[in-house]
Amino acid sequence: MTEFINLHEATIRLGFFFGVLLLIGLIEILAPRRPLTTSKVSRWFGNLGVVVISTVLLRIVFPLTAVQLAFWVDQKEWGMFNVLDLPYWTAVLASVILLDFIIYLQHVMFHAVPTLWRLHMMHHADLDYDLTTGIRFHPIEILISMVIKFGAIIVIGAPALAVVLFEVILNGMAMFNHGNFYIPLGLDRVLRLFVVTPDMHRVHHSVFPSETNSNYGFNLSWWDRLMGTYRAQPRLGHDGMTIGLNQFRNPSKLTLLWMLILPFVGKQGTYAINRRGAQDEG
Ligand SMILES: [Zn+2]
Ligand SMILES: [Zn+2]
Repeated sequence: MTEFINLHEATIRLGFFFGVLLLIGLIEILAPRRPLTTSKVSRWFGNLGVVVISTVLLRIVFPLTAVQLAFWVDQKEWGMFNVLDLPYWTAVLASVILLDFIIYLQHVMFHAVPTLWRLHMMHHADLDYDLTTGIRFHPIEILISMVIKFGAIIVIGAPALAVVLFEVILNGMAMFNHGNFYIPLGLDRVLRLFVVTPDMHRVHHSVFPSETNSNYGFNLSWWDRLMGTYRAQPRLGHDGMTIGLNQFRNPSKLTLLWMLILPFVGKQGTYAINRRGAQDEG
């Protein structure tokens, strides 16, 4: 198993990425949940363009992937699970759940710290909500996330299988829960007991700060419920709500180049959490 992962990590990850992209992309075209307000072609060009830039940058900056780091940590016998000596599958499952909690906390931090919010703002500035919104993150946010993930893998001693599973699940779930498609409400309620659904995460992309500052989870829906950041529905409904941020409403200023320089323009201090409630009327 470990040998297989080591040899085929890139193929496994790319295969799942394109598989989910194709599947959700097709469902969105056949049965969209909300009509798009801006050109799909230019949004997809920007959102997928930024993914390519981040992928290249990760390769240049880091000498190894998160999965390769997990192999190395295992050899050194570092980290909690290499010391505890739990059954292999228990360590795999617990590592995936722990990594998901860490990524939840990281997301809260990116909303709470002004400089980090400037980077994360780009994810929220998208004026529409579809599967490509889910993979649209500023390259510097991606680099910081990777440093945090590296630290988590070393401390947890996460098995390589857990890391590859987590990366594939996170990538797939990000496209799933940003999907512009309809899940019957009864099914959504059941799914939400465990995972983040499109209707749950869409609340996080509302222009109202009190809604932006809720539903931070990516995979499991438990963290928002446990930490008190859960909000069931947008107050104006899924058809009536506005997606994006109040300060970025001009589609011509949201091209790929603009997305990259977005964190570096404007006054410092426009961040998410301390404005909770303050702009909800607007
Ligand atoms: Zn966010
Ligand atoms: Zn999102």
